[in-house]
Amino acid sequence: MTQITSSNIGYPRIGEQREWKKALENYWNGNISQQELLKITKEIRLNGLRKQKELGIDLIPVGDFSLYDHVLDTALMFGIVPQRFQNSGLSVSSLDTYFAIARGTREAFASEMTKWFNTNYHYIVPEFDNANPILVENRPLQLYKEAQEELGIKGKPVVLGPISFLKLGKGYKETDFPNLLEKFLPLYIQILKELEAEGVEWVQIDEPILVTELSEGEVPLIEQTYQKIAEAVPSLKIALQTYFESIHHYKKLIHLPVAGFGLDFVHGDALEVIRQFGFPQNKVLFAGIIDGRNVWRVDLEQTWGMLEIIQQIVERDRIIIQPSCSLIHVPISKNLEQTLDPIIKASLSFADEKLKEIAILADGLTSGKEKIRDQIKESTLAIQRLNESNYRGDTKEIDLDEIQADRKAAFSQRILEQQVALQLPLLPTTTIGSLPQTAEVRKQRLRWRKGDLSNAEYEQFINKEIKKWIEIQEDIGLDVLVHGEFERTDMVEYFGEKLNGFQVTKYGWVQSYGSRCVKPPLIFGDVSFRSPMTVKEVSYAQTLTDKHVKGMLTGPVTILNWSFVRDDISEFDVLNQIAIALRSEIEELEAKNIKIIQVDEPALREGLPLKKINWSTYLNHAVHAFKLATATVENSTQIHTHMCYSSFGDIYDAINRLDADVISIETSRSHGELISTFEENTYDKEIGLGVYDIHSPRVPAKEELKENVHRALATIPAKQFWINPDCGLKTRKEEETVAALKVMVEVAKEIRAEQ
Ligand code: GLN
Ligand code: ZN
Repeated sequence: MTQITSSNIGYPRIGEQREWKKALENYWNGNISQQELLKITKEIRLNGLRKQKELGIDLIPVGDFSLYDHVLDTALMFGIVPQRFQNSGLSVSSLDTYFAIARGTREAFASEMTKWFNTNYHYIVPEFDNANPILVENRPLQLYKEAQEELGIKGKPVVLGPISFLKLGKGYKETDFPNLLEKFLPLYIQILKELEAEGVEWVQIDEPILVTELSEGEVPLIEQTYQKIAEAVPSLKIALQTYFESIHHYKKLIHLPVAGFGLDFVHGDALEVIRQFGFPQNKVLFAGIIDGRNVWRVDLEQTWGMLEIIQQIVERDRIIIQPSCSLIHVPISKNLEQTLDPIIKASLSFADEKLKEIAILADGLTSGKEKIRDQIKESTLAIQRLNESNYRGDTKEIDLDEIQADRKAAFSQRILEQQVALQLPLLPTTTIGSLPQTAEVRKQRLRWRKGDLSNAEYEQFINKEIKKWIEIQEDIGLDVLVHGEFERTDMVEYFGEKLNGFQVTKYGWVQSYGSRCVKPPLIFGDVSFRSPMTVKEVSYAQTLTDKHVKGMLTGPVTILNWSFVRDDISEFDVLNQIAIALRSEIEELEAKNIKIIQVDEPALREGLPLKKINWSTYLNHAVHAFKLATATVENSTQIHTHMCYSSFGDIYDAINRLDADVISIETSRSHGELISTFEENTYDKEIGLGVYDIHSPRVPAKEELKENVHRALATIPAKQFWINPDCGLKTRKEEETVAALKVMVEVAKEIRAEQ
């Protein structure tokens, strides 16, 4: 047998030009049959396998492909279908049941979707209420056979491990975890036995949950679980795969009875950990040394250096090289990018290019460094060229101590000046920024991008939308208006196109949830302010009305978290550069007499590190960046921020330290829970109550909104509250938006009268 030296953990599903997304959406819209969907997606899947083989990967993952989400695949493999989907007459194994759980139906709401660890990928949360699992199909086995039959590839089946799978789900009490595990374990064993019987050599069992802070008391159960598995399949080699951080109870868990362990050497301190605690002599190390979450090419000289350190602890023939995690978090190939600056393009590595890097390193590992000398040189040179280019040439160290990051006065003083300047009623009403983006808006933008519409024509079109909606907002009787964000496709990409140091790609898509993909901009160089980005639209809107129009920006933390960030300097340095650039924008808005400026930070929470010990460093930087961006405005200028999530308790202190004059939060779905966080902490600044859920087309009933406001008023004085929807209205239709906002304004008026 030839020696295995390279491996992959997972490959993007979406197809080079998002063919996958198109096929799925066509199927959902009834444009193609199920058979056609399966045919197209099989082609995409096989294509991915073929490519991995061509790129020189020895161990190619199979079963990582998905039609929506791999956690949902696992749930359905075990027949885990929430009760509310069981009466529809659909069979458990039907594809329509699968999509119904993910997307909801008219009769039954979709399962919850949440972030996959600290990534921007979302999985469908399994519901284990009264779970009675069965093995519906051995999915990894089927896909293993498919790869072998169609392409002659003996793949590495991927299975989401029992500990992670169950812990990622809900619908059971923590104390019931062992019982639940006991129900699933025999099924897992059956899957593995069948794989063993089929002659599978390596199977990858993903247990990313092991990098989180599990309690010490849970370790024995994990040990017993893997002991049972090991006894059941003695000749199957298990690669227990972790990623995104180092393993929490490393000293114990690393001795689980498996043949190999996958460690992430890019995120967290795995290198330090193996240096200190060693790595078992009887195991293979799947060394994740190529970053699966970022898009930069590596300097192979440096990576080789790391590999040499690893070899001091683990001998060469027990090392397999692979990415740090599944490559679903990066785009497929940079080849399609025709218009990128060559210096930048040469420094990029998307999924395919990363696999190439892995193959090169594996080659070096087998045949010696000399064999890959040229490739090493080439990579070093490419990185050097970017580092020495003007983009990065004049990286000035920002001396943060020199830059003011506190407002001129405390909130208690500012609010007095703001009240005089703004003259707002009690319980002012506003919206979160974006207004319905119709098909027409998208069409005109596309025409403009293609050059079919001149800049002037496009601007005229945007202005027409702004004007129309200023009138609508005045009619509705809102107190603080917005221009509507019609000029923005995406709240990060828009700024990425206008700031120095960013590059927007054409095909750099990654899956966010279901068929939805995002295209994070690349932050490749020093970020700086070029020219005003939002001033034209906002100040035009302000000329149309006597009411205040709120300026609207995406905050530094959100821009950072939703971009691919250069890795040659610290992320926090990049964060500060963004903050300082936004500071200029805010000053420009203020100079144009915009008195209220909102700086959105919806991604602040998701950027939290996986391990709590690292939280305070992150939060301190995040808070400081927000303050850097917003500190220079006059006392009378009001800074708002918006965060759409519903849990704040654990980061309350940081939220408070942002020192935003008004923070708008989700209120309707969390039923006031959130407000109690603020109450307990005697919050003194203002709070925008997100009184209705914009994620649904339903027009909320007046009584419902009243209840939401009354609940809040019972704990915090009315003078601290604003009334608004819980997020932007971009995805809603005009009619329902107007109707809902009317109800909201009426409610505000009635409650005002009660005070
Ligand atoms: N201002 C943005 C909007 O209204 C905020 C979006 C968000 O919170 N994700 O669309
Ligand atoms: Zn929001």
